[in-house]
Amino acid sequence: MKKIILSLLVIISANSFSQQRCGTAERTQMLSENNKEFAIAKQKVNTETKKWIENNSNYSSKSIITIPVVVHVVWKNSSQNISDAQILSQIDILNKDFRKQNIDTINTPNVWKPISADCKIEFCMASIDPNGNTTTGITRTQTTVNSFAMNNDPVKSTSTGGANPWPSNDYLNIWVCKLDNLLGYSTVPSGWNNPGDGVVIGFNYFGLTNDPQYGKGRTTTHEIGHWLNLEHLWGGGNGCGNDQVSDTPTQEWENYGCPAFPVNPNSCSTSNSNGEMFMNYMDYTNDACMSLFTNGQKTRMISAISLYRPELLTQQICGNSVSVENTTIQNKKLVKIIDLLGREVKKIRNTPLFYIYDDGTVEKKIILK
Ligand SMILES: [Zn+2]
Repeated sequence: MKKIILSLLVIISANSFSQQRCGTAERTQMLSENNKEFAIAKQKVNTETKKWIENNSNYSSKSIITIPVVVHVVWKNSSQNISDAQILSQIDILNKDFRKQNIDTINTPNVWKPISADCKIEFCMASIDPNGNTTTGITRTQTTVNSFAMNNDPVKSTSTGGANPWPSNDYLNIWVCKLDNLLGYSTVPSGWNNPGDGVVIGFNYFGLTNDPQYGKGRTTTHEIGHWLNLEHLWGGGNGCGNDQVSDTPTQEWENYGCPAFPVNPNSCSTSNSNGEMFMNYMDYTNDACMSLFTNGQKTRMISAISLYRPELLTQQICGNSVSVENTTIQNKKLVKIIDLLGREVKKIRNTPLFYIYDDGTVEKKIILK
């Protein structure tokens, strides 16, 4: 008995120090309970999305959708004022994860490799601000707030010690700050008319950091999944719920750490011997153990952009960060190509490279297969 009590105490104290992986479901649930209009709007999004997917069953995205990002760094001490390099490392991670260029895609179990998706979604730092001026896509705000709560979004307004968003039709707003006991959270599409639209990430989980579990930038991959209408694999509620995606297996609850395949075969009384897709970005496992979005999740994200973010399909604020598929032929001569470390290289496919031209312009491009 003494042993049991001791074990319980250990579990309780471990949990009290642990960080909550994601606050999106809790935030969405709270908004639905407190705001009838929000609940109706969210339901409408699900109905419209289902219809879009039915009408676009043969959908095949040929062109890349590039989403302009503004990162609002809100900091009190210098460690929270993260470097440009840390921010760019996150953009690089997003571009690898959403284009299936992450090297750990080899860790996806063979049974799910065929449905692992190149989502054809990329991200760039915005190069033009809302006033039409050139920008790095980064804002920096010093604050007196020790740590930001999720409730009421204080980080999203200068009046509460945060930073105001840029217009959400044109930019993905990401706030990076110290969060109360939470890795990150996002708004979901029914909140897209909300001025707080966007994603909030704890400063020590944004980009490559030294956090042993969550230092590889997958919190942002996960939260942008929510921003583009993805749900947790277990579908919320009491577990074994519906994540509205047909090719992800039914899952009992979230997974943590770095389990070995298969996990929980035949969970939720299914005949699925492969068990749960714990390495999906929409689970809670360690960053290093995540490796895929599925084709079904890709379709749901593309439908979210097409239905609620059509401006992103034609945006012109990514500046010189373009895909070759979108590049118009220009009358200038290529001088040389360099890689991200400044080394001169030949054309390499599926790798971002800088193309330097004789008129002094530089373009960042990815040559696609
Ligand atoms: Zn989540």
